[in-house]
Amino acid sequence: AALLAANAQALHWQGRGAVERARIVAKVADLFESNCQELMALAVREAGKSLPNAIAEVREAVDFLRYYAHQAATDGTAAALGPVVCISPWNFPLAIFTGQVAAALVAGNVVLAKPAEQTPLIAHRAVQLFYEAGVPAAALQLLPGRGEVVGAALTGDPRVRGVIFTGSTEVAQLINRTLAARAVKEGVEIALIAETGGQNALIVDSSALPEQVVQDALSSAFDSAGQRCSALRVLFLQEEIADKTIKMLKGAMQELKVGVPDRLATDIGPVIDAEARDNLVAHIEKTKKTAKSFFALELPASLTANGTFVAPTVLEIGSLAELKKEVFGPVLHVIRYRRADLPQLVDAINASGFGLTLGVHSRIDETIDFIAQRAHVGNIYVNRNIVGAVVGVQPFGGEGKSGTGPKAGGPLYLKRLQSKAPELQLAGARPAMPVVKALADWAGANGHSAAVELMRHYQDTSPAHAILDLPGPTGERNTLAFAERGFILCAASSIAVLLNQLAAVFATGNRALLLDGALLAGLPAIAMQNVEVIKDLATHTHAFQVALVDTGTAALLSSRLAAGDGALVSLIDTTADTAIPLWRLVAERALCVNTTAAGGNASLMTLGL
Ligand code: NAD
Repeated sequence: AALLAANAQALHWQGRGAVERARIVAKVADLFESNCQELMALAVREAGKSLPNAIAEVREAVDFLRYYAHQAATDGTAAALGPVVCISPWNFPLAIFTGQVAAALVAGNVVLAKPAEQTPLIAHRAVQLFYEAGVPAAALQLLPGRGEVVGAALTGDPRVRGVIFTGSTEVAQLINRTLAARAVKEGVEIALIAETGGQNALIVDSSALPEQVVQDALSSAFDSAGQRCSALRVLFLQEEIADKTIKMLKGAMQELKVGVPDRLATDIGPVIDAEARDNLVAHIEKTKKTAKSFFALELPASLTANGTFVAPTVLEIGSLAELKKEVFGPVLHVIRYRRADLPQLVDAINASGFGLTLGVHSRIDETIDFIAQRAHVGNIYVNRNIVGAVVGVQPFGGEGKSGTGPKAGGPLYLKRLQSKAPELQLAGARPAMPVVKALADWAGANGHSAAVELMRHYQDTSPAHAILDLPGPTGERNTLAFAERGFILCAASSIAVLLNQLAAVFATGNRALLLDGALLAGLPAIAMQNVEVIKDLATHTHAFQVALVDTGTAALLSSRLAAGDGALVSLIDTTADTAIPLWRLVAERALCVNTTAAGGNASLMTLGL
């Protein structure tokens, strides 16, 4: 019934136009603000949020509403997808729920919203306020219920044209498989934005200011009882400063007050439910046995008897490989490292397959740059904590097993919720691309004129290597870079399609991975240097997150690619003569630097006085 109603409403809602939809969504923001205290109370009651976290929850929801409304009103001319399913987690039951819904709605889609089982009340209140602002009932329908039942039925339904999912990597992989099977059966690509978990690290070298490190580690690991996808899970300490920092960390932890979340004195509330508590306690008990050291706050029995509280815990372990999955709670793992092993340490973080948040505490610019360049992580924070991304300031989202992109609260998000969205408009000319030029010359000489046209377009519009300065508070530098993703799988049934695929891959600074080299014969040497042919999808070692396919190769690949439990791979349908959206071929990397980091300037320490 909900899908019937949604379909019947789809054209009406799209017909309202981007400016009108944006006006309504911006009005929701005003209503959230005027109902702030009720929404906060629901966040505290239903999700166990502390009062400061509840304020932040409402503020982030309002930010999403205004940000996407503004963006749609400014450049929202593309067509909608149709019914979009929004599936959200309990840990940001208002902010993430609202962000998904607001984006899908302003982009012109009708929405079926499935909140987490644990937090339907705040979602219900939010939807009432969307209605009050003027969103028609059939354009936004709330469908609370169990994920395996309601979520699975919705994602499997052929009327659904797009899915926004935030939650665990495992469920994202499941949904990806459902959508891949549907794409084969229905012959169309179904948009998926998945934002999932992380194995987030903070790397601290011996030049860092310990007082600041301790403060930022505590807030990153234990605020919200560690139940943020961005939360710090592994603190890497250079061995020379490890003992001192751990001692300070334990001391500072004593100041944290764990308690009932509706008290102002409380820093850390409960975890979401008994199942989460039991899993966390089991992890702590198991890891304690082999940990090099262990420390946990004592919680009074009066507290633990009446709620699902987990004591903030520090476990010193030997290596990152010991952590098999995300530990979603107030548990901080500490690992010591030697300065000489820094490259291997960053490689190990990359090898975990996750790439959500990463922190660096150092006063040496070369170290900061080295880590930021080498890490395949969506959000990097320098000399500050690693949580609390602000909409439009630190666009948020990860790579690999942490998500598909585009980043929430960033310039590309709405594009994914529309069909044929235009390329991002970037100021200034794009740098010359010799490999694209060589390919265009070859295409021209061999009678592929459509490819030559497309290559010209790619050269002029590629976002590769562009860096946007984002607005933010004084004392912080925020940038969003469009980096190459690395390898992109190209599967074409003809040379005409392959030329288009290779040009898009090269124009975004990527390299191409092919399963069959037969079509490559005669291509210029400079192009071949950026191509690798692999024998088998199952045994190759190059990670990739995007596959370019055509009508001849899509069916074969989509289920095979979705079957694995690694990174979520997005398929893009390509032809010989339509432009491939280049913004989907780049990785968005957000960097936030605290430019006021205390403790002085490292260059002064090295002055030979
Ligand atoms: P979860 O994956 O258990 O549930 C998320 C949502 O998916 C819920 O609404 C659930 O009902 C639904 N769901 C469950 N099974 C489903 C199925 N088979 N089909 C369709 N939907 C289904 O996650 P959670 O425990 O609610 O949230 C915590 C997780 O979310 C953590 O892993 C955290 O890292 C992640 N998270 C990520 C981000 C991000 O932006 N990257 C933000 C917040 C949370």
